[in-house]
Amino acid sequence: MSVEVNGLTKIYGEQKAINSISFSVKSGEVLGFLGPNGAGKSTTMKILSCFIPSTSGTATVNGYDIQSNSLEVRKLIGYLPENNPLYLDMYVKEYLHFAGQAFGIKENLTKKIDHLIDILGISAEKNKIIGSLSKGYKQRIGLAQALINDPKILILDEPTSGLDPNQLVDIRQLIKELGKEKTIIFSTHIMQEVQAVCSRAIIINKGKIVADDSIDALIHKRDSLVEIEVQFLEPIEQLEIEKIESITKINKLQPNYYRVFGNDSLKIRAQLSALASENKNAIILMKENEKSLEDAFFNFTNKL
Ligand code: ADP
Repeated sequence: MSVEVNGLTKIYGEQKAINSISFSVKSGEVLGFLGPNGAGKSTTMKILSCFIPSTSGTATVNGYDIQSNSLEVRKLIGYLPENNPLYLDMYVKEYLHFAGQAFGIKENLTKKIDHLIDILGISAEKNKIIGSLSKGYKQRIGLAQALINDPKILILDEPTSGLDPNQLVDIRQLIKELGKEKTIIFSTHIMQEVQAVCSRAIIINKGKIVADDSIDALIHKRDSLVEIEVQFLEPIEQLEIEKIESITKINKLQPNYYRVFGNDSLKIRAQLSALASENKNAIILMKENEKSLEDAFFNFTNKL
């Protein structure tokens, strides 16, 4: 159940929202779609779920073209739009029946809804009116709606935005569970979420794809500098640290505390230790800071 996107472009009036983007998603992948506001994430997702047409380019879902075969594509896709539009004055079960009927599901619809209510943990709220539910539960109703047709591919546009930390963990866990059976494309601003849930991420900026790789490769590829924090027992002059040739950049945090950068972690650490003993000083803390996906995101979206 793959998705193939080829040279997809969308122009709204004068505004080029996405500019000839291409990527593919393999069956079973959980793909994080990252990018600053206005990058073109929602536009891409709307096109893939046949919500709006592209200006040019093609995309197929399981071999079906999104334009010429959009009904087949819609059967395969579950879509949770940004801001999760729900009918707030409908009851939970009533709404899910309505969503199922819109998909033309006749057989076992009640059973399917009960199953979704069960796996999404909505049981306690199932007889309530949607408008009275918390944001976390509304999000679950949105997910239930997206799952009603048992889609093979789930497209989730910022499914965790606006949730409190507990709700966030719950919905993330749900997405992870769903990812065991389905191909998922989801957009988010939260980097830990991508690290926790996705196998791969695409970073999109100003309508163009600027990175497409495994999470690990994204973190380590762009910038090879290591970052080491070192705290000496006694103050030490920055001039002394500048003598270490393997250190290419220094931030002085306190008279005895520095953050240093360079290529060779082992060499830097050994030379800092040697410097401390030469100066009859001692190192009381030395740690290499982990590179993060945030750094990669910042690099990729600020270096255009
Ligand atoms: P993202 O989801 O990454 O925040 P969007 O896909 O929503 O980005 O938007 C991409 C660009 O297209 C933005 O500059 C946005 O203002 C513009 N845009 C989105 N929808 C419309 C629309 N219906 N009409 C005009 N411009 C739009």
